[in-house]
Amino acid sequence: MPFSSLGLSTPILDAIRDTGYNEPTPIQKRAIPVVLKGNNLIAVAQTGTGKTASYVLPILERLSKGQTQRKKRVRAVILTPTRELAAQVAENIAIYSKHLSLTSLAAYGGVDDQEQKARLIEGVDILVATPGRILDLYGQRAVHFEEVETLVLDEADRMLDMGFIDDINKVMDRLPAGFQTLLFSATLSNSVRDLAHDAIENAEEIII
Ligand code: AMP
Repeated sequence: MPFSSLGLSTPILDAIRDTGYNEPTPIQKRAIPVVLKGNNLIAVAQTGTGKTASYVLPILERLSKGQTQRKKRVRAVILTPTRELAAQVAENIAIYSKHLSLTSLAAYGGVDDQEQKARLIEGVDILVATPGRILDLYGQRAVHFEEVETLVLDEADRMLDMGFIDDINKVMDRLPAGFQTLLFSATLSNSVRDLAHDAIENAEEIII
């Protein structure tokens, strides 16, 4: 199955071609159509399976379609357990969105937040962040959630192991009604099951 049969448009297919990927990985084949439909998703997949592109590509597709009136507000939030993963996801977004006019920012703690705040004022479509830092920015009114359409919980098991459950729930409570949730986890631990059960309705499940 080629990438071109998954419902992605030319600018994204061109970026994929530039990376040299020949065909979608199993998680990409199954997750991309689900995300494009706007459904919630719970995916059990390890790092190294191509999971990042499995949510980044369809999110870019959806955001690029709804881009007629640019509001400069965040439309997709990706939560990651660590700053390293946040930076890596943002690098992936930059690669896959090179032919699109969408902007992204990685925001994490341990560094001065002035530059992150300045970027948010300029306008960011996709915010990749650690849970503590995004709440900190929200508390300072540096980020607004009114336009958020999609939330990704990447490496959910690690975020829960690190004690981020309250922060994750706080972010979810502040998002507008009806947002799409995509949960990725290497394991389906009890705490991940509880989070999925409590907070994600009617999700499609993919186990790789
Ligand atoms: P991830 O599981 O998202 O950490 O991705 C693991 C690695 O696989 C990354 O280096 C990606 O660039 C690469 N990758 C993602 N999708 C594909 C694909 N369809 N074909 C080949 N490599 C890929």
